[in-house]
Amino acid sequence: MSDPPFCPNAHCPHHERAPVGQSWFEYAGFYGTKAFGAVQRFRCCTCGKNFSTQTFRLDYYVKRPRSYRRILKRITAGSGVRSLGRDLKVSHQAVLNRLSRLARQALGVQAQLLPTLTLQEDLAADGFESFSSSQYEPNNIHLLVGCDSQCLYAFDAAHLRRKGRMTDEQKRQRSLREKKYIRARVSISESFTRLLKCAIRHIENRAACRVLLFTDEKHEYRLLVDSDEYLQHLRSREQFAHICISSKLPRTTANLLFPVNYLDRQLRKDNANYVRETVQYSRSVNNCLERMAVYQLHHNFCKPYRVNDRQKRELRHAEVAGVDREVIDRELEGIYGWRKFFSKAKLSLSQLLVWTRMVGNLDRFDGGYKPQYIFM
Ligand SMILES: [Zn+2]
Repeated sequence: MSDPPFCPNAHCPHHERAPVGQSWFEYAGFYGTKAFGAVQRFRCCTCGKNFSTQTFRLDYYVKRPRSYRRILKRITAGSGVRSLGRDLKVSHQAVLNRLSRLARQALGVQAQLLPTLTLQEDLAADGFESFSSSQYEPNNIHLLVGCDSQCLYAFDAAHLRRKGRMTDEQKRQRSLREKKYIRARVSISESFTRLLKCAIRHIENRAACRVLLFTDEKHEYRLLVDSDEYLQHLRSREQFAHICISSKLPRTTANLLFPVNYLDRQLRKDNANYVRETVQYSRSVNNCLERMAVYQLHHNFCKPYRVNDRQKRELRHAEVAGVDREVIDRELEGIYGWRKFFSKAKLSLSQLLVWTRMVGNLDRFDGGYKPQYIFM
């Protein structure tokens, strides 16, 4: 990058778009770094903000650059954070830091591309149950998936109460932990409301006259869909229907919840933190959601749509959903080099919670250190 593309100060008139052919900035010397050599500094002539080439890079503040392409490839192919750290010769904390950066890139790309598509298929939504930190903190990650494309449109997490068979000691432990909770649970309803908002945005921009939403029989889902005025308006005109499917039915391709069941399976086999009965579970809900965002990017835009079909293998899930391939390629270009800006990414509320690491474990503060630049 020779010239900066815009002023990084969100309150500056040159932030949204910098004037072409006008010298809105001035060169302000260099500073030396071990990792990147001499870095050019700039100063905005309007707001006086000092910044450098590094301000725009995904590796802003990084001291030991590592290949993001390699991290993405391995983390979405069942690799654990520590094994990846050993491979890259960095600590697992450094890997988590790079994953946070990749997650924000992923959220930025999704926020840019998915809202632009015209919905051409029915939708399925369901919760993916996992846990983070310990078995006492199960969570339910709601997924919104396209029925034909299996494109993952959105996800949102809720906390669950530990259920199932427990000994008396485990029950005592559960109530002890519940007394020490520092934050309120994100309920199923709260989380599904956010997901439904995202579904409605897509339904508003649909190609077909009629669209169906498949979910399982949770009463919260039915209540929330029934209480939404817009969906009820569409339903009265026979343009929308909510179909509840029993989650006890065999999980075959004939099952109408197949799109979400398929994604559940992909998540379990591709992500080490979701593989059951191992020690590779996420230690924090935020880390878990960041990995989900990275996987969403990989699933929608990088992975072949069908591997056994010669033509379909060239397609991507988002492409089948209706995003133009050229637009995808253009958006992915430079994704490992230039960072997405918070002020420019048009995030949904679900995405914002992941970007700012605000979901969190119930019994401890795990938002971690949030550098100021992630809000720039
Ligand atoms: Zn400025």
